[in-house]
Amino acid sequence: MSLLSSNQISQIQNQDVEITIDADLSKFSTMKLVCFGDLIKVRSVSSLKDVVLILLKEKISYKVIGWGANFILPKNLDFALIKLELPFDKKSLTIDKEEFTLSASAPLNVLTSIAAKLGLSGWEVFTGVPASLGGAIAMNAGTSLGEIGELIKEVTILRSNGHIEKVLMDSNSFSYRKNHFLNEGDIIVEATVRHNGINQTIGETIKTYLQKRTESQPLKEKTCGCMFKNTITEINGNSVTCRAGQYIDILGLKGLSSGHMRISPKHANFMENRGISSSEEVKQLVNFTVEELEFHYGVKFETEVHLP
Ligand SMILES: Cc1cc2nc3c(=O)[nH]c(=O)nc-3n(C[C@H](O)[C@H](O)[C@H](O)COP(=O)(O)OP(=O)(O)OC[C@H]3O[C@@H](n4cnc5c(N)ncnc54)[C@H](O)[C@@H]3O)c2cc1C
Repeated sequence: MSLLSSNQISQIQNQDVEITIDADLSKFSTMKLVCFGDLIKVRSVSSLKDVVLILLKEKISYKVIGWGANFILPKNLDFALIKLELPFDKKSLTIDKEEFTLSASAPLNVLTSIAAKLGLSGWEVFTGVPASLGGAIAMNAGTSLGEIGELIKEVTILRSNGHIEKVLMDSNSFSYRKNHFLNEGDIIVEATVRHNGINQTIGETIKTYLQKRTESQPLKEKTCGCMFKNTITEINGNSVTCRAGQYIDILGLKGLSSGHMRISPKHANFMENRGISSSEEVKQLVNFTVEELEFHYGVKFETEVHLP
């Protein structure tokens, strides 16, 4: 069922905005879950502003999606899904600059390849993270090499009231897999990313790290990366990091399935969609795993993805 009337569609649609009603959205998330809903593809910031203002006026809720690499889409959307397709020119990344202002649609894998080629120190932190720049900043994506938040100087945000705001980042802007500057309905449209100088060994660091990930993670399966955040708990007065994957593995839950969803036999913190699954199967498997972890270890793990 459509959330948008034909009158609203004709108000929103222009050469930079493409609307598909009741679209099959399974290909918009890396987990490829069954999902239908209204899709609005937007190719310019000015059109995005118009779209947001009309949706606000018409009281239609919306969410923005990047690569859908950390987005569990519900089976039937009760919000419009905005997919940003803002221009990104990789030729703007040259060795003589200390920082780059890039669109939120810039793909992280392209940034990683350029970092390897130019030796952009610091950019190795997002090696192997499938994401758009906007999604990675929203999630403060990171690896054991560091977090993207460390490299972000400024973020341009389209606030949900239609105002564009530039926000300078500081030491309180990010925490583990979280940002502290976006509110419901805000959309990152651009960001200034810095690097820590030129270091020709970065290419090798990236290559080695990619190899490590290929060996330890089910990268050919349909997943959304790590399902649970690692958590810190106090044991005998000491802070101990509890690694969700390790705990799930020790419980012997690798390979456990719910319908076509299963806990990856390769990496226990990943869940794989092996057929036709929806967010319901994901939730069932997540809830079961959370209960088991709490029962056996007394530790409550939170999901890294936002479940509907
Ligand atoms: C194989 C695999 C490996 C992964 N490994 C890692 C890893 O090592 N480290 C890690 O941190 N993550 C990892 N992930 C998860 C995922 O890649 C990251 O969370 C990434 O940041 C998601 O980016 P995205 O563009 O896909 O965002 P989406 O999944 O599309 O969106 C995530 C959230 O960000 C919001 N969002 C997206 N774009 C914007 C925007 N422009 N403005 C405001 N909000 C926005 C969405 O509304 C949503 O709430 C992995 C995923 C996969 C599939």
